[in-house]
Amino acid sequence: MLQLYNTLIRRIEPFKPLEDGKVGMYSCGPTVYNYVHLGNLRAYLFVDLLKRYLRYSGFEVKHVMNITDIDDKTIKGSQEAGKPLKEFTEFYFQAFLQDLESLNMVKPDVIAKATEHIEEIVNMIKRLEQNGYSYEINKSTYFRIAKFKNYGKLARLEKQSFKRDAEGRNIKDEYGKEEANDFALWKAWEPEHGDIYWDTEIGKGHPGWHIECSAMSTKYLGETFDIHTGGIDLIFPHHTNEIAQSEGATGKKFVNYWLHNGFLVVDGQKMSKSLHNFYTLRNIQEKGYNSLLVRLILLKTHYRQQLNFTFQGFNEAETIVAKFLDFLINLDFVENEKGNEVQIGSLIEESRNEFKKGMDDDLNISEALAAIFNFINEINKVIKSLNTKQAQKIKDYILEIDSVLGFIKLFYRQHQERLKELTNDSAVKELLAKRVEARKNKDYESADKLREELLKKGIIVNDVQGGYKVRLINVVENAN
Ligand code: AMP
Ligand code: ZN
Repeated sequence: MLQLYNTLIRRIEPFKPLEDGKVGMYSCGPTVYNYVHLGNLRAYLFVDLLKRYLRYSGFEVKHVMNITDIDDKTIKGSQEAGKPLKEFTEFYFQAFLQDLESLNMVKPDVIAKATEHIEEIVNMIKRLEQNGYSYEINKSTYFRIAKFKNYGKLARLEKQSFKRDAEGRNIKDEYGKEEANDFALWKAWEPEHGDIYWDTEIGKGHPGWHIECSAMSTKYLGETFDIHTGGIDLIFPHHTNEIAQSEGATGKKFVNYWLHNGFLVVDGQKMSKSLHNFYTLRNIQEKGYNSLLVRLILLKTHYRQQLNFTFQGFNEAETIVAKFLDFLINLDFVENEKGNEVQIGSLIEESRNEFKKGMDDDLNISEALAAIFNFINEINKVIKSLNTKQAQKIKDYILEIDSVLGFIKLFYRQHQERLKELTNDSAVKELLAKRVEARKNKDYESADKLREELLKKGIIVNDVQGGYKVRLINVVENAN
């Protein structure tokens, strides 16, 4: 049974959705004022792995992700670019979708933009007002955290630490809020916002950041749902505030399982825009690295562990991918039809159980991958005696696992396409034809020489019954 680490209780517990077999899941998405960096992508890849594994395990998953296309950063960015907000954010939104595709992430079922949900946001703020959770200062609306008795439970905050100063007086902050941690639900229009505002029942302005996630998750997943994800930096204040808003509005428990990924770091520091120590997927592609390797680099460390980004990681990931590809290609080369004693069915069953055991343990990817590598090693010992039916079964199993891992099939396809391109080259075609001719004439010396020539071009030729099969030396295309 799947067990997940729930930040709410700070331990691993069995996962039980509200409704048998169905999962509602919400992920905080990007603020579209710039390209996302690899740290952000780690957060989305972790969700992708979780979602794929839930589906593999038989759950029907509804996955919702928000897009923050209105906040102080997007307003500022659009003004600096001299573009309307919509045009400015749409560009980075499209770039984000491309990144999801480049990393073979399954698109969320609902991608919800804040600007398209102003009505739901306003309605939730009105509900909070009715329940006494909000107050207004200078036409902006704030959430009154003192009224919400469980405030800070997710982040394990000591209430006293932020509520009052040393003498026990309420802290009044610079905006005149009742308490320093009270946060904006609705920000009143100011001249610096220019033409970016919405005229609503609660005034002219734009929503605060936290409220969009409460309003949109409720709209698409209901008032209580199963899983909410984000990086650990979102535990406080963002998720803490989401809980306060949603539970303040509905009076119901907001989310059952809070899952948070650890940071991607560079030299010990969180990869972030503000520290300027980030890489985007475009940077990686410009350097000539195969960007799909990023998927494996970011997934092969457990999602809750801190992960140090280095370019050395591309070599390590390449070695892993090559192991998978060599295996699949060797299976393609199997041409024997005879029966044998190898119990493929039970080897697959054993490996699948090990894979699931790892993944069920809070997505222990190292154990899950180890189960597959053990399987590959076992099969490699007997690969010479396998027949084509068995080879096909093994390939089907690897592709089954890849519905969770999400990179093997694509790399395999990349190899086949590059191979096809190369073997369509007229010089290569000629060498291959000459070699067939030489073998026909039993001129094995020439055939061997031609094999050498082909090797120099990056192609390995294997003679099989009635012909030959080819593959590339470098099964993964990468910069180094
Ligand atoms: P942001 O655009 O800053 O709200 O971040 C979007 C998502 O990326 C959030 O879930 C963050 O927690 C996550 N995130 C940001 N930086 C990193 C990082 N260096 N490592 C892992 N996750 C991150
Ligand atoms: Zn959020």
